Amino acid sequence: MRHIKTVKVIQKKLHDYKGIADGQVIESITELSRKLRGLRVLHINATAYGGGVAEILHTLIPLMKDCGLEVDWKTIEAPGEFFDLTKRMHNALQGKEDSISVNDRDLFERVSKENSAFIKPDEYDVVIIHDPQPVALPAYANFGSSKLVWRCHIDTSSPNPVFWNFLNSFLSYYRAGIFTLLSYAKEGISIESLYAIAPSIDPLSNKNRDLTEAEFGSALKKLGVDTSKPLIAQVSRFDPWKDPLGVVDVYKSLKKQFAGLQLLMIGSMASDDPEGWKIYEDLLRYTGMDYDVKVLSNFQGIGDIEVNASQRISDVVIQKSLREGFALTMSEAMWKRTPVIGGNVGGIPLQVHHGVNGYLVNSIEETIEYTGKLLEDRALATDMGNKGHEIAKRDFLTTRHLKEYLELFSDLA
Ligand code: UDP
Repeated sequence: MRHIKTVKVIQKKLHDYKGIADGQVIESITELSRKLRGLRVLHINATAYGGGVAEILHTLIPLMKDCGLEVDWKTIEAPGEFFDLTKRMHNALQGKEDSISVNDRDLFERVSKENSAFIKPDEYDVVIIHDPQPVALPAYANFGSSKLVWRCHIDTSSPNPVFWNFLNSFLSYYRAGIFTLLSYAKEGISIESLYAIAPSIDPLSNKNRDLTEAEFGSALKKLGVDTSKPLIAQVSRFDPWKDPLGVVDVYKSLKKQFAGLQLLMIGSMASDDPEGWKIYEDLLRYTGMDYDVKVLSNFQGIGDIEVNASQRISDVVIQKSLREGFALTMSEAMWKRTPVIGGNVGGIPLQVHHGVNGYLVNSIEETIEYTGKLLEDRALATDMGNKGHEIAKRDFLTTRHLKEYLELFSDLA
């Protein structure tokens, strides 16, 4: 029998964010916390590591606890074939052609049922279920009077209809839905109360905080790049929607113009992402024997500190997504004052303001043009980097995110 697992989180203190985040936001959090003290909250998702959702929960949950809420985090357990199916589901919900077989439905139902056997009625006041993998739990579990919230992190605005209808058949169990943008919620959705809450980055996490000289030095060694030469980077799961091969095309073209240009492709493998290995191998083949290209992952010891350093030393950070829920990687780079180039899709335009802190791009050609512009005009790149920091500070820090969650809890209570 499969068993839902509890994820441990480290301690974080809201107090530490004073002086970094907006003071008014911290005040509102403190006020809301007074009302919500003791509220029992459960988050359920598919994985504790890899990808944006886990990244966010490792910060939000400790801070919710510091606000006096009693918060747990659990991940569902499932066989590889289930994650193959949910990856297809993820792709189809972002618009890819596919169909659901009877076997697919049976598998989804079976795993959801097995995981729901461990839910106890009324154990929590609010249960937040993230993304499609655990969406069906309420159909089989007895949550009692817990208020259920579905948090969708993907762009479901133009989904494959078969998969959308399947997903939507589970949504009527939910009291509220959270989307990065309200336009992600397709018409006819079976949840009445919809909230728009954008994701966020933690300015104090190892991924984003200032690094010591020793940390920086050791990270540079692992990254193996030459900081005296120009560098462009993309940090993202090895996933076709992130268009890693397109980024290599951009590099190959710019290399003719910028001697010594280097490309850093950092990608992690998430436990719920079976497609990653294939893309990784394709990427290695596609880059060939070019020593100025580094394809690195968690398997080469690239962790948060190295990602942090890579986003600081890059002249431009690219996120050439073709579809994208949000792209934390943009705010992460912006926080570090690095100009960004992002695909003009999903949540990227929320963060990348064209011509202000970087550029939005719709093609490989545009990516080449604007990346080249930033590599050439260093003063412009610095100015855009600084503007990006201000945008990230105002709109995409964890404190704003926490406040919006607490407001939602307050509405539900
Ligand atoms: N990430 C990482 N190492 C990698 C690749 C990605 O730590 O090799 C992190 C990245 O820094 C970001 C998250 O994984 O925090 C990806 O979130 P995003 O919203 O960009 O994309 P998602 O994976 O959720 O589609």
